[in-house]
Amino acid sequence: MSDENERIARDFSARSAEEQQAFLENTWCNQCQQVDLGMVEPIEYEFLGRIFIEGKCSVCGEPSITEVVDDEDDD
Ligand SMILES: [Zn+2]
Repeated sequence: MSDENERIARDFSARSAEEQQAFLENTWCNQCQQVDLGMVEPIEYEFLGRIFIEGKCSVCGEPSITEVVDDEDDD
C-alpha cells in the first residue's frame, strides 16, 4: 500500500513574500461565505497531484483552503 492519498508537505515560506501575501489575502471562507477575509497559519501541501494552501480564516478561525493554480502565463 502506498500513501498516494497522503498530503505531501511543501514549504510555503519558500515562496516570495509577495506571493505569500497574495495567497493570504485572496481567500474564500465557507463559514463566513465571503472572499478575501484573509487567513493565518498557512500550510502548503500537495494532495492528489494538486497544490493547496490551507490556513485558518482570520475572522472565524475555520479552515480556509486555497488551491494553487499554476498559471504559466506571465501576462
Ligand atoms: Zn471565516
